[in-house]
Amino acid sequence: MPKDKLSVAICGGGIGGLVAAIALSKYPDISVHVYEAKRSFEEVGAGIGIWPRAWKVLATLGLAQELLLCTNIEISELLGPSFRFRKGDEREGLDFYTMMTHGRLITLHRADLQRVLLSHLADKCQITCSKQLSSYEEQEFGPIELSFADGTSSTCDVLIGADGIRSGIRSCMLAVQPVQNFTDQQLAEIGLRPSAIHPIWTGYTAYRTLISADRLKQLQPDHRVFSGPTQYFGHGGCITAYEVSQGSLVNFAGFRFRPPNEEHSFSGSPMINQHELAGYFQGWDSEVQALLEAVESATSWAIHTVEPLQTLAVGRVVLLGDAAHGVMPFQGAGAGLAIEGAYTLACLLGDSRTTVETIPEALKAYDQTIRPLARQAAEASALNGKYFTLQESVVKVNQDSARSSDKDRERLSEVGRLVEVNWQWAWVGNAEDSVQQALSMLSGGSSS
Ligand SMILES: Cc1cc2nc3c(=O)[nH]c(=O)nc-3n(C[C@H](O)[C@H](O)[C@H](O)COP(=O)(O)OP(=O)(O)OC[C@H]3O[C@@H](n4cnc5c(N)ncnc54)[C@H](O)[C@@H]3O)c2cc1C
Repeated sequence: MPKDKLSVAICGGGIGGLVAAIALSKYPDISVHVYEAKRSFEEVGAGIGIWPRAWKVLATLGLAQELLLCTNIEISELLGPSFRFRKGDEREGLDFYTMMTHGRLITLHRADLQRVLLSHLADKCQITCSKQLSSYEEQEFGPIELSFADGTSSTCDVLIGADGIRSGIRSCMLAVQPVQNFTDQQLAEIGLRPSAIHPIWTGYTAYRTLISADRLKQLQPDHRVFSGPTQYFGHGGCITAYEVSQGSLVNFAGFRFRPPNEEHSFSGSPMINQHELAGYFQGWDSEVQALLEAVESATSWAIHTVEPLQTLAVGRVVLLGDAAHGVMPFQGAGAGLAIEGAYTLACLLGDSRTTVETIPEALKAYDQTIRPLARQAAEASALNGKYFTLQESVVKVNQDSARSSDKDRERLSEVGRLVEVNWQWAWVGNAEDSVQQALSMLSGGSSS
C-alpha cells in the first residue's frame, strides 16, 4: 500500500462534508476522516432541490442512478418548465410566469439524499459521530492539532470546516487563529473580519414540513403541485412547494419576512402547529389553503446568512458549504454550492501537483473559484427573496388587484423574467469548467 500523501479531516457530516468525503476517497493516496458532532446522521424532514449545475457533480461522482430512484422528476437537457410562479396572497391567485430551464430541478427528500451519500462512502473513509471539534491549532510545520469537546485530540494535514452556518471552525479561523498566528498587517492583507464570525439574521422565517400527497389529493385532487414545482409569491411571504419521494410527499416551505431585528431572531427549530401556520397565510388563495390544511405541523427556522468572507482558507484550514457562505434559501442553491465546493476542493487536493507543502496553494485556488460563485449566488438569492415576497424596493404590485389591473399583471410578468435571469447561473454554468480553471491555478508540472 502506498503511503498517504495527505490526511484530511472533515469537520461536519452534512451534505458538504459527505460529498467532500466521497470525492476525496476516490484518490488512493488521501486518507479521510469525517468527524460529526451529532450522535448519528440525521437530516431535517424536508425536501431539497438540486439544480443541474450541482446535479452534474453528483452524476460525476456516480450517484445519479440511485438518486433518480427517489424522485419522479425526469432528467432532461432540453428547455422545459421547471417552476410555475403564482401570486398567492389573494383569495383567487394569479398565474403569471413559467420559468423555463435547460435541465430540471431534481427534487428529493433530504433523508434519501443523505442515505445515498452515506452508502457511497468508501470503506477506507473513517467516520466518527459524537465528535464535536472544539478548536484546532495549526503550526507552521507539522500536522494540525484537533481538539474535541470530549477531551480527545487528533491530527491532520488539511482541515475542512463543513460545520454549517454556525461554524466553530470559522470562529476559530477568524478570531482565535489570527490572533495567535498573524500580524495585524497579515490580517489586513487576507481581509479577515471578526464580524463574520456570527451568522446574520435576515428577517425571514421559514416553516418547513412534508405533506402526505394522498391527503392533499383528497382536499384538491388536481392541485397544481402535482404537475410541477410551484412558487407562490405574496406581500411579506412566499411558499415553495414540490413533490418528493416519487410523488408520495409534497415539500412545503413557507416564508415570512419581517424587517430584521434582534427580537425576532432565534436558534433551533421550534415546532409550530397547523393552526398557527395557517394563520400566517390567512386570505391566501385556495391552492395555498389546501396545502395548509394538509399540514400536520412544521418546524420554524430563522434564516441567517454569513457576511461575505474575504478568504475561505487560511493556511491548511478551509471552509466549505454553509460554514463558508451560508446563503438565503431563495434559489435552492446552498447545498448545490456545498456540493460544487466539495468536488472542486477534492479535485485540487487530489491533483498530483498538490503535496503537504503546497496545500495552501490548492486551497487558494479553491477560494478563488468558489468564493466569487458563492458571492454571486448569495446576492441572487437575496434578490429572489425580495421578488418572492413582493417587496416594494424591487416591485410595486397591489395586494388585491393583480387580477384586474393590467399594469400589475405586466409588472408580475416582468418579475418572472427577472427571476429567471437572476437564477440562470444554476443551470447554465458548468462546475467542470470552473474545476478546470481552478486546476490551472496550480503550479508545478502537468496535472494528474
Ligand atoms: C428552508 C431552506 C430550504 C433550503 N432548500 C434548499 C434547496 O432546495 N437546495 C439547496 O441546494 N439548498 C437548500 N437549502 C440550503 C441547504 O440546506 C444548506 O446550504 C446545506 O444543507 C448546507 O450543508 P452543509 O453541509 O454546509 O452544512 P450542514 O448541513 O449545516 O451540516 C453541518 C454539519 O456539521 C455538524 N457540526 C457542526 N458543528 C460541528 C463541530 N464542531 N464538530 C463536528 N461536527 C459539527 C452538524 O451537526 C452538521 O451535521 C435550504 C435551506 C433552508 C433553510
